[in-house]
Amino acid sequence: MSRSVLVTGGNRGIGLAIARAFAAAGDKVAVTYRSGDPAALVDEGLLAVRCDITDTEQVEQAYKEIEEKHGPVEVLVANAGVTKDQLLMRMSEEDFASVVDTNLTGTFRVVKRANRAMLRAKKGRVVLISSVVGLLGSAGQANYAASKAALVGFARSLARELGSRNITFNVVAPGFVDTEMTQVLTDEQRKNIVGQVPLGRYAQPEEIAATVRFLASDDASYITGAVIPVDGGLGMGH
Ligand code: NDP
Repeated sequence: MSRSVLVTGGNRGIGLAIARAFAAAGDKVAVTYRSGDPAALVDEGLLAVRCDITDTEQVEQAYKEIEEKHGPVEVLVANAGVTKDQLLMRMSEEDFASVVDTNLTGTFRVVKRANRAMLRAKKGRVVLISSVVGLLGSAGQANYAASKAALVGFARSLARELGSRNITFNVVAPGFVDTEMTQVLTDEQRKNIVGQVPLGRYAQPEEIAATVRFLASDDASYITGAVIPVDGGLGMGH
């Protein structure tokens, strides 16, 4: 069965690993990108659609292109996200609002647009990429952690609202993953983090992708409103 899958921010990092996992299983996969040359993505067989999820019109155009080429989206992975770390004292309202606009409101925009066709099809799978820090908290990341925690309330509300329509909403909460987002950390910060992770290492993006693919598979047909940690044990108890 080849489904129409959309992974936001699927042009690099965790999103690209997720996109590759679905494509390897035979699904038709679209990924969003904002800048840069999408040629390498196209070479891999991915449909690259230009889209900034902070812009409702771009989200609409992206969905139209995907629907034309792959059909209505059956599996949505809302993965695109940003950080703008700063201690509260120095965090501007813009730093706060822009992170929320991408991580939370951007997710709302893509989920809302996907919902239309999922309702019609009477089925759908939605996976939101949150973070271990959404529930643990993280000094210097109040904006990011708040936006990621909010995804849990968002997903669980929709799980209740749309469960009867056979649409599942689940959240994956990764720990520290080796991508460009974490490459900005110093060696000392990395050492500190790894020291707190029971498995004693960062995750590889493919380890997050495997859980996302499971949640979108038939094997996960009775799972909705769940928050699945993929964090090497870092967030245990939360
Ligand atoms: P990267 O920084 O490597 O990639 C971020 C992705 O999000 C890029 O594809 C980027 O696209 C996309 N993106 C950002 N803003 C927008 C926007 N406005 N519109 C469309 N796309 C956008 O991060 P990761 O791969 O590490 O992170 C992926 C997700 O996983 C994020 O939601 C992140 O918060 C979460 N996460 C990451 C962890 C980690 O340790 N790395 C841990 C826990 C959660 P573009 O290339 O166009 O900028």
